[in-house]
Amino acid sequence: MLIYDLDFSELVEIVVAWGQPVFRAQQIWDGLYKNFWQSPDEFTNLPKVLREKLAAEIRFDIITPTLKLDSTDRQTRKTLFRLQDGRQIEAVLMRYDRRKTLCISTQVGCAMGCTFCATGQMGFTRHLSSGEIVAQVMYYARLLHDQQDVVTNIVLMGMGEPFHNYDNTMKAIDRLNAQDGYNFGARRFTVSTSGLVPAIRKFAAEKRQVNLAVSLHATENELRGSMMPINRKYDVEELIKACHEYVLATGRRITFEWALINGVNDTPEQAKKLAKLLHGLLCHVNAIPLNPTTGYEGKATTRERADIFKQVLEQNGIPCTIRIRRGIDIQAGCGQLASHTA
Ligand code: SF4
Repeated sequence: MLIYDLDFSELVEIVVAWGQPVFRAQQIWDGLYKNFWQSPDEFTNLPKVLREKLAAEIRFDIITPTLKLDSTDRQTRKTLFRLQDGRQIEAVLMRYDRRKTLCISTQVGCAMGCTFCATGQMGFTRHLSSGEIVAQVMYYARLLHDQQDVVTNIVLMGMGEPFHNYDNTMKAIDRLNAQDGYNFGARRFTVSTSGLVPAIRKFAAEKRQVNLAVSLHATENELRGSMMPINRKYDVEELIKACHEYVLATGRRITFEWALINGVNDTPEQAKKLAKLLHGLLCHVNAIPLNPTTGYEGKATTRERADIFKQVLEQNGIPCTIRIRRGIDIQAGCGQLASHTA
């Protein structure tokens, strides 16, 4: 049993089954999510017997950091974690002035096979449990807490397709969002999908306040299908239809991710086609020059081409941001995450 897999009600049940009063569960919960304690030894407010029971019955060492890499500008930290079964995942902290954004993983590997992505290139191994997702956040929350700082945003854009592991991803978000726990605001989460249409519909129906990002990268089925195999199952038209339904159901703006690849999808014509495709949709485009991976030949666009792409989109009524590439020197950029020793 992993400590972060437990909801508060489940923790209460366990503590009561051990013959302890309910308030002990509250103390444990507060210790985990308000004080960021990560080992039973730290719960010095509990009787020794309960601490020993916790240590014997519940795993606290869910993820073990085995490698920490800082980018040369020291603004990005990537951590490689070993899981209980020896598998490995990565999670990244990005510091942008006041913002401290975490990019966390939801699976070991990924089944979606996007050709430009290091995680896709390694294939799928398994889903993460909700507790393994939560543990990545609590690890960094503790790190920042020790520096008198806090996490401000969480993006589920690390290894894996969050909607392929839908239930555990949502359970993790709910646990982190619990008001009497970590209380991380729903609107400060962003879930990213490669375009799993049924899951987008499910997510829309749940009307969560969590932000949705869709990796689009191409407007034409042939090109998108060659980069993202999921497009062969749910094509561009079906995906955009589901996005319209999402906006209609939630009133929330969608972010479309667009990795700018030199000569592939970064021309003014492509920008015009994209603007046409997104016409009438409450959305924003995040364009990011492609981050290099060894398994894909495409190159990043130039700054000039990126600026023209943005200009054309905006002239056609679609807001666009060119995202700064972060952590490239430590393979911590978008699409670069893969556990090197897995
Ligand atoms: S881009 Fe996302 S969905 Fe595609 S293979 Fe990589 S991790 Fe999976």
